[in-house]
This record gives sequence, C-alpha cells and structure tokens, in this order.
Amino acid sequence: MGEISLVDSLKSDVPSRVREGGWQGYESKRIERHIDAHLHDHFKKASLKTFELFKKNRFDWLFLGCKEEYRSDFEPLLHPYLKERLKGWLKTDSNNTEDKILKQTLEMEKKLKAEEEATLAQSLVSELEKGGRAVSGMKEVLRKLNTWGVQSLVLSRNFSAEGRTCPKCHYLYVDEVRCPVCQVKTEKVQDIVHESVHAALDKKVQVRYITPPSKLDRYGKIGAFLRFKA
Ligand SMILES: [Zn+2]
Repeated sequence: MGEISLVDSLKSDVPSRVREGGWQGYESKRIERHIDAHLHDHFKKASLKTFELFKKNRFDWLFLGCKEEYRSDFEPLLHPYLKERLKGWLKTDSNNTEDKILKQTLEMEKKLKAEEEATLAQSLVSELEKGGRAVSGMKEVLRKLNTWGVQSLVLSRNFSAEGRTCPKCHYLYVDEVRCPVCQVKTEKVQDIVHESVHAALDKKVQVRYITPPSKLDRYGKIGAFLRFKA
C-alpha cells in the first residue's frame, strides 16, 4: 500500500460542447447526439481496455473516475467481472492531471482499507463477546490452529512474539517446554506470529491483517474465526 503508478492510458477525441455562433433547435440537438455518441464510444473503449488490464493483472478493486453526469453511461458498459470489483467512484474528469488522479486513488484505497479493517475487527469482537465461533490471544489461536480449527486468522500488522515449536509434530506453542502430544522437548522460535501465518497458509486458512491501533489490541493483537464453535 502507498505506491502507485500509471500502467496504461487511452485518449479519444470528443468534440467540445461549446457552441460557436449559437447553434439553435434541431442543429443543437444533432450536435449533442453526435457528442454523446463519441462519449459512449470512448467509455466502451475504456471498459474494454480495463477488462484487458484485468485479464493481465487480476486486480481485486476497481475505482472509476469521470464526471458525475456520465456515471450512468459508463457503468453499464463494464464487464460483469469488473462491476463486481467496482469499489468506488473518484470525483474527477479528463481535465485532472494524472498525478492528481493517482493521488485520489491512493486516498480512496486508504480510506476503504481502513473501513474494511474496522469492520473486520468489529465482527471478530462481536463474535468473541457473544461466545461464538471465534477465539483471541496467541495461546488460544495456536491451540485452534494446531488442530485445524481455524477458518481465518486475524492479526495486528507488525505484531511479533517469541514462542516454541515441536520438532516432531510441528505444533506451535507460546510456552510449552515439552510437546503435550509427542512428549518431546520443544524448540524456541524467534517469532511465533510469523510461524502461525505460515502454518495458516499451509492449511489454506485465510490470513487478514489489521493496522493498529484497533479493537484487536485489547484481545492480544491476534484472533481467529473458527470452523466450529469454541
Ligand atoms: Zn509434538
């Protein structure tokens, strides 16, 4: 997050709406229709180009920018895959510089990410408070992760802690000196959080980060949604 660059651009000539010499009545309407056709064509090309970029890069979020009045012309032209990923509209138009548009995009991404993380933290806390399918704190999370009980792991960004791991069964522990399963001596690991992320990914468990400070801080900076009730 925080870096952005222009990957492609597309320009079309659309006649200006400024009327010289005062067009009237029928002629004026004809010109308007002519301009609308050009705009429609441009949005169509832009939609196709965006879909080409999607096929190459498989992005998750799409923001679009155009004058407010053109939104309803532009949006229906998008491929369904793009519509699904459309996360926001930028208040912009073709007169804005590339730099300005890129900056607006970053700001919108930051805002939406923060909202998404706050919602995630809140849903974990709600689940914990009602005693539902969630646990918090390193110890409980590892216990569930070791036994394949975790559906998704939620952790605070930049969180790290020492821990231990069993050389035989590879279970992860906060402070077990002897593995309760294998009865062999466990080994110290520098960062048990890092290990837990690896274990989660190996088990195809989704890992989601939250930028501190957040509600997760009061719950040991780590939690998990479970497959089954705790
Ligand atoms: Zn073991």
